[in-house]
Amino acid sequence: MTDLSHTLEAVRERIAAAARNAGRDPQSVALLAVSKTFPAQDVRAAHAAGQRAFGENYVQESVDKIEALADLRASIEWHFIGPLQSNKTRPVAERFDWVHSVDRLKIAERLSAQRPAGMAPLNVCLQVNVSGEASKSGVTPQEAQQVARQIAALPNLRLRGLMSIPEPETSLEAQRAPHRQLRELFEALRAEGLALDTLSMGMSADLEAAVLEGATIVRVGTAIFGARDYSL
Ligand SMILES: *Cc1c(COP(=O)(O)O)cnc(C)c1O
Repeated sequence: MTDLSHTLEAVRERIAAAARNAGRDPQSVALLAVSKTFPAQDVRAAHAAGQRAFGENYVQESVDKIEALADLRASIEWHFIGPLQSNKTRPVAERFDWVHSVDRLKIAERLSAQRPAGMAPLNVCLQVNVSGEASKSGVTPQEAQQVARQIAALPNLRLRGLMSIPEPETSLEAQRAPHRQLRELFEALRAEGLALDTLSMGMSADLEAAVLEGATIVRVGTAIFGARDYSL
């Protein structure tokens, strides 16, 4: 197992350095530890090292993990970040604190309808396909305002902001461009009166670029837990 206290500290340092470069308070960027494919014991170890927010992509895997870590539930935040099919929304609505990957109104409507009474509203982000690849989920930047308004009106959700997964790029400048586009869209929606406070963008390879462009949550897996093995 990776020494999670060290990798977590290294990632926190990267975030803090990027925030200082951007003239931002390092505390204004939250670290979401993406634990998909890693066992519950790794989440437990990261939690023991002080990490509180965890991101998961697959419904069944996350349901099992949340169950196995039920004793930590009061001090863990679970964020669903993977593609969500409409027939799989219920376990997510019933168990998670956040969903970053809402990519159409229908998913938001189901999550709102299935959120149990008595639980806090589910925090959601609207996923935007900034670079416009046909293979990727997310609304277009042109659709974002209308869909965001419809989601914001749903009773059991709280629309917090926008999320994106841009194409991988190697140079800092190329990495910054789609993050800048998402931030500009975020600012435009706020100017239109939507009360958004979250920009979920940046992963292991491009978190600096995302922080420079205003990310408030970076979603980091590999740099914390190591390379994923999908054959297991
Ligand atoms: C897997 C995943 C991440 C983490 O990616 P790394 O490159 O391992 O940091 C972030 N966001 C989403 C949506 C993911 O699916």
